[in-house]
Amino acid sequence: MLVVNGTLVTFDSLRPDRDQVIPGGAVAIEGNRIVAVGPEDKVRASRPGDEVLDARGGVILPGFINLHTHLYSAFARGMALPGEVPRNFPEILERLWWKVDKALTLEDCHQSALCMMVEAAAAGSTTLFDHHASPRAVRGSLDAIARAAHQVGIRACLCYEVSDRDGSAVRDQGLEENAEFIKACGEGTALVKALFGLHAAFTLEDGTLARAGERAQALDVGCHIHVAEDGVDDLTCRQRFGAPLVDRLLKHQILKPKTIAAHCIHLGDPAIRKLGDSGAMVAHNPQSNANNAVGVAPLGKLRLAGSPIGLGTDGYTHNMVSAMVTMTQVHKLASRDPRTCGFAEPVSAVFEANAVFASQIFRAPLGRIAPGALADIVVWDYVPYTPLTAANVPGHLIFGFPQARARTVVIDGKVVMRDGEFPGLDRAAVAARGRELAMKLWQRLGAF
Ligand SMILES: [Zn+2]
Repeated sequence: MLVVNGTLVTFDSLRPDRDQVIPGGAVAIEGNRIVAVGPEDKVRASRPGDEVLDARGGVILPGFINLHTHLYSAFARGMALPGEVPRNFPEILERLWWKVDKALTLEDCHQSALCMMVEAAAAGSTTLFDHHASPRAVRGSLDAIARAAHQVGIRACLCYEVSDRDGSAVRDQGLEENAEFIKACGEGTALVKALFGLHAAFTLEDGTLARAGERAQALDVGCHIHVAEDGVDDLTCRQRFGAPLVDRLLKHQILKPKTIAAHCIHLGDPAIRKLGDSGAMVAHNPQSNANNAVGVAPLGKLRLAGSPIGLGTDGYTHNMVSAMVTMTQVHKLASRDPRTCGFAEPVSAVFEANAVFASQIFRAPLGRIAPGALADIVVWDYVPYTPLTAANVPGHLIFGFPQARARTVVIDGKVVMRDGEFPGLDRAAVAARGRELAMKLWQRLGAF
Protein backbone atom coordinates (compact mmCIF):
# COMPACT_ATOMS: atom_id res chain seq x y z
CA MET A 1 0.00 0.00 0.00
CA LEU A 2 1.16 3.54 -0.80
CA VAL A 3 0.08 6.56 1.24
CA VAL A 4 0.63 9.60 -0.96
CA ASN A 5 -0.11 13.30 -1.43
CA GLY A 6 0.56 14.54 2.08
CA THR A 7 3.17 16.29 4.17
CA LEU A 8 5.11 13.61 6.02
CA VAL A 9 6.30 14.35 9.54
CA THR A 10 8.44 11.31 10.19
CA PHE A 11 9.68 11.80 13.78
CA ASP A 12 12.55 9.63 12.63
CA SER A 13 15.37 10.67 14.93
CA LEU A 14 17.81 8.72 12.78
CA ARG A 15 17.35 11.19 9.92
CA PRO A 16 18.89 14.64 9.78
CA ASP A 17 16.48 17.36 10.91
CA ARG A 18 15.87 18.76 7.46
CA ASP A 19 14.38 15.47 6.28
CA GLN A 20 11.87 15.04 9.08
CA VAL A 21 9.23 17.08 7.24
CA ILE A 22 8.69 15.95 3.64
CA PRO A 23 6.10 17.94 1.66
CA GLY A 24 4.65 15.84 -1.17
CA GLY A 25 5.83 12.75 0.64
CA ALA A 26 4.79 9.13 0.38
CA VAL A 27 4.99 6.03 2.58
CA ALA A 28 5.12 2.51 1.19
CA ILE A 29 3.77 -0.29 3.39
CA GLU A 30 4.26 -4.00 2.91
CA GLY A 31 2.54 -6.37 5.33
CA ASN A 32 2.70 -4.67 8.72
CA ARG A 33 5.91 -2.71 8.07
CA ILE A 34 6.91 0.54 6.44
CA VAL A 35 9.31 -0.27 3.61
CA ALA A 36 9.97 3.11 1.95
CA VAL A 37 9.64 6.78 2.86
CA GLY A 38 10.41 9.84 0.76
CA PRO A 39 9.27 12.18 -2.02
CA GLU A 40 6.20 10.75 -3.78
CA ASP A 41 7.73 10.42 -7.25
CA LYS A 42 10.64 8.37 -5.93
CA VAL A 43 8.56 6.09 -3.71
CA ARG A 44 5.86 5.60 -6.36
CA ALA A 45 8.40 4.65 -9.01
CA SER A 46 9.66 1.83 -6.82
CA ARG A 47 6.15 0.51 -6.04
CA PRO A 48 4.15 0.20 -9.26
CA GLY A 49 0.77 -1.52 -8.81
CA ASP A 50 0.41 -0.87 -5.07
CA GLU A 51 -2.99 0.18 -3.69
CA VAL A 52 -2.93 3.98 -3.22
CA LEU A 53 -4.31 5.83 -0.20
CA ASP A 54 -4.63 9.56 -0.99
CA ALA A 55 -3.84 11.86 1.96
CA ARG A 56 -5.44 14.73 0.00
CA GLY A 57 -2.89 17.31 1.05
CA GLY A 58 -3.12 16.53 4.77
CA VAL A 59 -0.37 15.80 7.25
CA ILE A 60 0.84 12.23 7.83
CA LEU A 61 2.10 11.48 11.33
CA PRO A 62 3.10 8.35 13.23
CA GLY A 63 0.12 7.17 15.31
CA PHE A 64 -0.03 8.43 18.88
CA ILE A 65 1.07 6.09 21.67
CA ASN A 66 -0.83 6.55 24.95
CA LEU A 67 1.38 5.35 27.80
CA HIS A 68 -1.25 5.06 30.54
CA THR A 69 -5.00 4.69 30.35
CA HIS A 70 -7.98 2.90 31.90
CA LEU A 71 -10.38 1.57 29.30
CA TYR A 72 -12.67 0.27 32.07
CA SER A 73 -13.60 3.86 32.91
CA ALA A 74 -15.71 4.31 29.77
CA PHE A 75 -19.11 3.87 31.38
CA ALA A 76 -18.42 6.42 34.14
CA ARG A 77 -18.67 9.26 31.61
CA GLY A 78 -21.50 11.57 32.67
CA MET A 79 -22.38 9.46 35.69
CA ALA A 80 -23.13 11.15 39.02
CA LEU A 81 -22.88 8.92 42.07
CA PRO A 82 -25.19 9.75 44.94
CA GLY A 83 -23.57 11.37 47.98
CA GLU A 84 -21.16 14.19 48.59
CA VAL A 85 -18.56 15.21 46.04
CA PRO A 86 -15.18 13.63 46.96
CA ARG A 87 -12.86 16.09 48.70
CA ASN A 88 -9.54 14.41 47.98
CA PHE A 89 -7.85 11.62 46.06
CA PRO A 90 -8.58 8.74 48.50
CA GLU A 91 -12.26 9.75 48.45
CA ILE A 92 -12.25 9.85 44.63
CA LEU A 93 -11.00 6.26 44.65
CA GLU A 94 -13.38 5.04 47.34
CA ARG A 95 -16.52 6.84 46.19
CA LEU A 96 -16.05 6.57 42.45
CA TRP A 97 -13.46 4.28 40.89
CA TRP A 98 -13.50 1.44 43.41
CA LYS A 99 -17.28 1.34 43.13
CA VAL A 100 -17.26 1.44 39.35
CA ASP A 101 -14.61 -1.26 38.91
CA LYS A 102 -16.36 -3.63 41.36
CA ALA A 103 -19.60 -3.31 39.39
CA LEU A 104 -18.06 -4.35 36.05
CA THR A 105 -18.98 -7.62 34.36
CA LEU A 106 -16.83 -9.34 31.74
CA GLU A 107 -19.13 -8.00 29.03
CA ASP A 108 -18.69 -4.48 30.46
CA CYS A 109 -14.90 -4.93 30.27
CA HIS A 110 -15.13 -5.89 26.62
CA GLN A 111 -17.65 -3.26 25.57
CA SER A 112 -16.07 -0.35 27.48
CA ALA A 113 -12.72 -1.23 25.87
CA LEU A 114 -14.37 -1.40 22.46
CA CYS A 115 -16.04 2.02 22.91
CA MET A 116 -12.86 3.70 24.08
CA MET A 117 -10.60 2.00 21.54
CA VAL A 118 -12.81 3.26 18.70
CA GLU A 119 -12.69 6.74 20.22
CA ALA A 120 -8.92 6.56 20.70
CA ALA A 121 -8.24 5.43 17.13
CA ALA A 122 -10.56 8.13 15.80
CA ALA A 123 -8.41 10.65 17.71
CA GLY A 124 -5.24 9.33 16.07
CA SER A 125 -3.99 6.90 18.74
CA THR A 126 -2.67 3.61 17.45
CA THR A 127 -1.17 2.10 20.64
CA LEU A 128 -2.68 2.06 24.14
CA PHE A 129 -1.09 0.95 27.41
CA ASP A 130 -4.08 -0.05 29.51
CA HIS A 131 -4.31 -0.60 33.27
CA HIS A 132 -7.41 -2.66 34.03
CA ALA A 133 -9.45 -3.41 37.16
CA SER A 134 -12.68 -5.39 37.51
CA PRO A 135 -12.45 -7.15 40.91
CA ARG A 136 -15.74 -9.09 40.45
CA ALA A 137 -14.74 -10.23 36.97
CA VAL A 138 -10.99 -10.75 37.03
CA ARG A 139 -10.42 -13.99 35.17
CA GLY A 140 -10.84 -13.58 31.43
CA SER A 141 -10.95 -9.78 31.65
CA LEU A 142 -7.70 -9.29 29.72
CA ASP A 143 -8.90 -11.70 27.02
CA ALA A 144 -12.10 -9.66 26.77
CA ILE A 145 -10.10 -6.45 26.26
CA ALA A 146 -7.74 -8.17 23.82
CA ARG A 147 -10.78 -9.30 21.80
CA ALA A 148 -11.88 -5.65 21.57
CA ALA A 149 -8.37 -4.64 20.43
CA HIS A 150 -8.49 -7.21 17.63
CA GLN A 151 -11.99 -6.11 16.61
CA VAL A 152 -10.83 -2.50 16.25
CA GLY A 153 -7.36 -3.46 15.00
CA ILE A 154 -5.61 -1.24 17.57
CA ARG A 155 -2.28 -2.05 19.23
CA ALA A 156 -2.58 -2.54 22.99
CA CYS A 157 -0.44 -3.51 25.97
CA LEU A 158 -2.69 -4.86 28.73
CA CYS A 159 -2.38 -5.70 32.41
CA TYR A 160 -4.60 -6.38 35.42
CA GLU A 161 -4.03 -4.05 38.38
CA VAL A 162 -3.45 -6.46 41.30
CA SER A 163 -4.46 -5.14 44.72
CA ASP A 164 -5.07 -6.42 48.24
CA ARG A 165 -7.98 -4.02 48.69
CA ASP A 166 -10.60 -6.65 47.75
CA GLY A 167 -9.18 -9.55 49.73
CA SER A 168 -6.82 -12.43 49.09
CA ALA A 169 -9.01 -14.35 46.62
CA VAL A 170 -9.35 -11.39 44.23
CA ARG A 171 -5.65 -10.62 44.70
CA ASP A 172 -4.70 -14.16 43.71
CA GLN A 173 -6.99 -14.03 40.70
CA GLY A 174 -5.27 -10.81 39.64
CA LEU A 175 -1.81 -12.36 39.92
CA GLU A 176 -2.98 -15.35 37.85
CA GLU A 177 -4.74 -13.20 35.26
CA ASN A 178 -1.53 -11.26 34.61
CA ALA A 179 0.67 -14.36 34.48
CA GLU A 180 -1.66 -16.37 32.23
CA PHE A 181 -2.22 -13.49 29.85
CA ILE A 182 1.50 -12.66 29.63
CA LYS A 183 2.24 -16.31 28.80
CA ALA A 184 -0.49 -16.37 26.15
CA CYS A 185 0.90 -13.23 24.51
CA GLY A 186 4.20 -14.99 23.84
CA GLU A 187 7.48 -13.37 22.99
CA GLY A 188 7.24 -12.10 19.43
CA THR A 189 5.80 -9.00 17.84
CA ALA A 190 2.01 -8.98 18.08
CA LEU A 191 -0.86 -6.52 18.14
CA VAL A 192 -1.53 -7.23 21.84
CA LYS A 193 1.22 -7.49 24.47
CA ALA A 194 1.25 -7.41 28.27
CA LEU A 195 2.94 -6.04 31.36
CA PHE A 196 2.45 -7.19 34.96
CA GLY A 197 -0.16 -4.88 36.49
CA LEU A 198 -0.27 -3.61 40.06
CA HIS A 199 -2.62 -0.99 41.47
CA ALA A 200 -0.34 1.04 43.77
CA ALA A 201 2.00 0.26 46.66
CA PHE A 202 -0.43 1.59 49.27
CA THR A 203 -2.98 -1.14 48.46
CA LEU A 204 -0.38 -3.92 48.18
CA GLU A 205 0.96 -6.03 51.04
CA ASP A 206 4.68 -6.87 51.04
CA GLY A 207 3.92 -10.51 50.25
CA THR A 208 1.91 -9.50 47.18
CA LEU A 209 4.64 -7.18 45.94
CA ALA A 210 7.13 -10.02 46.37
CA ARG A 211 4.99 -12.50 44.44
CA ALA A 212 4.29 -10.01 41.66
CA GLY A 213 7.95 -9.02 41.38
CA GLU A 214 9.08 -12.65 41.23
CA ARG A 215 6.52 -13.61 38.62
CA ALA A 216 7.24 -10.57 36.45
CA GLN A 217 10.94 -11.40 36.66
CA ALA A 218 10.34 -15.05 35.73
CA LEU A 219 8.14 -14.01 32.80
CA ASP A 220 10.71 -11.38 31.76
CA VAL A 221 8.23 -8.47 31.69
CA GLY A 222 8.07 -5.07 33.32
CA CYS A 223 5.28 -3.89 35.60
CA HIS A 224 2.65 -1.17 35.21
CA ILE A 225 1.84 0.57 38.49
CA HIS A 226 0.63 3.89 39.91
CA VAL A 227 3.43 5.59 41.90
CA ALA A 228 2.96 8.57 44.23
CA GLU A 229 -0.16 9.86 42.51
CA ASP A 230 -1.08 11.33 45.91
CA GLY A 231 0.87 11.79 49.13
CA VAL A 232 -1.21 8.97 50.64
CA ASP A 233 0.85 6.39 48.68
CA ASP A 234 4.21 7.08 50.36
CA LEU A 235 2.60 7.94 53.71
CA THR A 236 0.74 4.60 53.88
CA CYS A 237 3.89 2.72 52.89
CA ARG A 238 5.82 4.34 55.76
CA GLN A 239 3.09 4.10 58.38
CA ARG A 240 1.58 0.73 57.55
CA PHE A 241 4.38 -1.14 55.85
CA GLY A 242 7.36 0.47 57.59
CA ALA A 243 9.29 1.56 54.51
CA PRO A 244 9.17 4.39 51.96
CA LEU A 245 7.23 3.77 48.75
CA VAL A 246 10.13 3.64 46.31
CA ASP A 247 12.21 1.45 48.65
CA ARG A 248 9.37 -1.08 48.83
CA LEU A 249 9.01 -1.19 45.06
CA LEU A 250 12.77 -1.52 44.53
CA LYS A 251 13.07 -4.27 47.13
CA HIS A 252 10.57 -6.37 45.20
CA GLN A 253 11.97 -5.63 41.73
CA ILE A 254 8.91 -3.73 40.61
CA LEU A 255 10.81 -0.63 39.44
CA LYS A 256 13.10 -1.56 36.57
CA PRO A 257 13.53 -0.95 32.84
CA LYS A 258 10.31 -1.86 30.97
CA THR A 259 8.21 -0.83 34.00
CA ILE A 260 5.71 2.03 33.74
CA ALA A 261 5.49 4.14 36.89
CA ALA A 262 2.40 6.29 36.40
CA HIS A 263 2.26 9.81 37.91
CA CYS A 264 5.36 10.07 40.22
CA ILE A 265 4.19 13.33 41.80
CA HIS A 266 4.75 13.09 45.56
CA LEU A 267 8.34 11.92 45.81
CA GLY A 268 11.22 13.43 47.78
CA ASP A 269 14.66 13.95 46.29
CA PRO A 270 16.15 10.62 47.49
CA ALA A 271 13.18 8.71 46.03
CA ILE A 272 13.47 10.60 42.74
CA ARG A 273 17.15 9.64 42.52
CA LYS A 274 16.38 5.97 43.20
CA LEU A 275 13.55 5.99 40.67
CA GLY A 276 15.90 7.51 38.08
CA ASP A 277 18.53 4.85 38.76
CA SER A 278 15.95 2.07 38.38
CA GLY A 279 15.43 2.73 34.66
CA ALA A 280 11.63 2.71 35.05
CA MET A 281 9.56 4.81 32.68
CA VAL A 282 7.50 7.66 34.12
CA ALA A 283 4.02 8.07 32.62
CA HIS A 284 2.94 11.66 33.13
CA ASN A 285 -0.84 12.27 33.13
CA PRO A 286 -1.42 16.02 33.50
CA GLN A 287 -5.13 16.00 32.57
CA SER A 288 -6.02 13.51 35.27
CA ASN A 289 -3.66 15.15 37.78
CA ALA A 290 -5.39 18.48 37.23
CA ASN A 291 -8.85 16.93 37.44
CA ASN A 292 -8.08 15.06 40.66
CA ALA A 293 -6.19 18.09 42.04
CA VAL A 294 -3.37 15.79 43.19
CA GLY A 295 -0.48 18.07 42.30
CA VAL A 296 2.07 18.79 39.58
CA ALA A 297 4.69 16.17 38.74
CA PRO A 298 8.28 17.40 39.29
CA LEU A 299 9.31 16.75 35.69
CA GLY A 300 12.57 18.71 35.88
CA LYS A 301 13.83 16.72 38.86
CA LEU A 302 12.63 13.41 37.42
CA ARG A 303 14.39 14.13 34.14
CA LEU A 304 17.60 15.22 35.86
CA ALA A 305 17.59 11.96 37.81
CA GLY A 306 17.49 10.06 34.52
CA SER A 307 13.84 9.00 34.32
CA PRO A 308 12.43 8.89 30.79
CA ILE A 309 9.14 10.82 30.80
CA GLY A 310 6.29 9.69 28.62
CA LEU A 311 2.71 10.90 28.38
CA GLY A 312 -0.62 9.22 29.04
CA THR A 313 -4.24 10.21 29.57
CA ASP A 314 -5.15 8.04 32.60
CA GLY A 315 -8.56 7.50 30.97
CA TYR A 316 -9.49 11.16 31.38
CA THR A 317 -9.60 11.44 27.58
CA HIS A 318 -8.30 9.31 24.75
CA ASN A 319 -6.99 12.33 22.92
CA MET A 320 -3.22 12.71 22.96
CA VAL A 321 -3.36 16.15 21.33
CA SER A 322 -5.34 17.48 24.28
CA ALA A 323 -2.96 15.67 26.68
CA MET A 324 0.02 17.46 25.09
CA VAL A 325 -1.76 20.81 25.30
CA THR A 326 -2.64 20.28 28.97
CA MET A 327 0.94 19.28 29.76
CA THR A 328 2.35 22.62 28.60
CA GLN A 329 -0.47 24.57 30.22
CA VAL A 330 -0.24 22.89 33.63
CA HIS A 331 3.51 23.35 34.00
CA LYS A 332 3.57 26.91 32.69
CA LEU A 333 0.76 27.94 35.02
CA ALA A 334 2.17 26.13 38.05
CA SER A 335 5.61 27.71 37.59
CA ARG A 336 4.25 31.12 36.49
CA ASP A 337 7.10 31.09 33.97
CA PRO A 338 6.22 30.87 30.25
CA ARG A 339 9.61 29.29 29.55
CA THR A 340 8.63 26.17 31.53
CA CYS A 341 7.63 23.09 29.56
CA GLY A 342 8.17 24.41 26.05
CA PHE A 343 6.06 22.91 23.27
CA ALA A 344 8.82 20.48 22.37
CA GLU A 345 8.52 18.75 25.78
CA PRO A 346 5.13 17.07 25.36
CA VAL A 347 5.94 16.30 21.74
CA SER A 348 9.18 14.65 22.81
CA ALA A 349 7.34 12.72 25.56
CA VAL A 350 4.97 11.28 22.96
CA PHE A 351 7.14 10.85 19.88
CA GLU A 352 10.43 9.96 21.58
CA ALA A 353 9.91 8.58 25.10
CA ASN A 354 6.61 6.77 24.43
CA ALA A 355 7.92 5.54 21.08
CA VAL A 356 11.18 4.15 22.51
CA PHE A 357 9.31 2.40 25.32
CA ALA A 358 6.62 0.95 23.04
CA SER A 359 9.28 -0.29 20.63
CA GLN A 360 10.78 -2.35 23.48
CA ILE A 361 7.44 -3.80 24.51
CA PHE A 362 6.21 -4.60 21.00
CA ARG A 363 9.70 -5.68 19.94
CA ALA A 364 9.82 -3.63 16.76
CA PRO A 365 10.34 0.05 15.91
CA LEU A 366 7.19 2.04 16.65
CA GLY A 367 6.20 5.70 16.68
CA ARG A 368 8.16 6.87 13.65
CA ILE A 369 7.71 6.82 9.92
CA ALA A 370 10.81 5.03 8.75
CA PRO A 371 11.68 1.90 6.78
CA GLY A 372 11.48 -1.12 9.07
CA ALA A 373 9.06 0.46 11.55
CA LEU A 374 5.64 -1.04 12.22
CA ALA A 375 3.11 0.62 9.90
CA ASP A 376 1.08 2.68 12.39
CA ILE A 377 0.35 6.01 10.70
CA VAL A 378 -2.41 8.60 10.75
CA VAL A 379 -3.53 10.97 8.01
CA TRP A 380 -4.77 14.26 9.50
CA ASP A 381 -6.97 16.75 7.68
CA TYR A 382 -4.59 19.46 8.84
CA VAL A 383 -3.56 21.95 6.16
CA PRO A 384 -1.23 24.51 7.79
CA TYR A 385 -1.52 28.17 6.87
CA THR A 386 1.94 28.98 8.26
CA PRO A 387 5.22 27.30 7.30
CA LEU A 388 5.55 23.80 8.71
CA THR A 389 9.20 22.92 9.29
CA ALA A 390 11.12 20.34 11.30
CA ALA A 391 11.84 23.06 13.87
CA ASN A 392 8.25 24.18 14.43
CA VAL A 393 6.33 20.89 14.34
CA PRO A 394 5.67 21.14 18.13
CA GLY A 395 4.01 24.56 17.66
CA HIS A 396 1.70 23.12 15.01
CA LEU A 397 0.83 20.12 17.20
CA ILE A 398 -0.03 22.28 20.21
CA PHE A 399 -1.88 25.12 18.42
CA GLY A 400 -3.08 23.63 15.13
CA PHE A 401 -3.92 20.00 15.80
CA PRO A 402 -6.61 20.67 18.42
CA GLN A 403 -8.65 21.96 15.47
CA ALA A 404 -7.69 19.12 13.13
CA ARG A 405 -9.26 15.68 12.71
CA ALA A 406 -7.68 12.32 12.13
CA ARG A 407 -9.15 11.20 8.82
CA THR A 408 -7.53 7.86 8.13
CA VAL A 409 -5.73 5.52 10.52
CA VAL A 410 -3.46 2.64 9.55
CA ILE A 411 -2.35 0.21 12.25
CA ASP A 412 -0.11 -2.79 11.65
CA GLY A 413 -0.41 -2.14 7.93
CA LYS A 414 -4.23 -2.31 7.93
CA VAL A 415 -6.65 0.55 7.35
CA VAL A 416 -8.50 0.66 10.67
CA MET A 417 -10.36 3.92 9.96
CA ARG A 418 -10.95 5.42 6.51
CA ASP A 419 -12.55 8.87 6.23
CA GLY A 420 -13.88 8.49 9.77
CA GLU A 421 -15.47 5.08 9.14
CA PHE A 422 -14.29 1.78 10.60
CA PRO A 423 -14.50 -0.94 7.94
CA GLY A 424 -16.15 -4.01 9.46
CA LEU A 425 -17.16 -2.22 12.66
CA ASP A 426 -20.43 -0.34 13.16
CA ARG A 427 -19.53 2.64 15.36
CA ALA A 428 -23.18 3.46 16.08
CA ALA A 429 -23.86 -0.13 17.17
CA VAL A 430 -20.77 -0.14 19.41
CA ALA A 431 -21.97 3.04 21.13
CA ALA A 432 -25.57 1.79 21.36
CA ARG A 433 -24.53 -1.41 23.15
CA GLY A 434 -22.27 0.73 25.35
CA ARG A 435 -25.26 2.87 26.39
CA GLU A 436 -27.31 -0.23 27.28
CA LEU A 437 -24.55 -1.63 29.47
CA ALA A 438 -23.72 1.78 30.98
CA MET A 439 -27.37 2.24 31.96
CA LYS A 440 -27.37 -1.15 33.72
CA LEU A 441 -24.09 -0.28 35.48
CA TRP A 442 -25.47 3.08 36.63
CA GLN A 443 -28.59 1.33 37.96
CA ARG A 444 -26.46 -1.18 39.89
CA LEU A 445 -24.56 1.76 41.41
CA GLY A 446 -27.73 3.70 42.28
CA ALA A 447 -26.62 6.46 39.91
CA PHE A 448 -29.69 6.39 37.69
ZN1 LIG B 1 -4.12 5.46 36.27
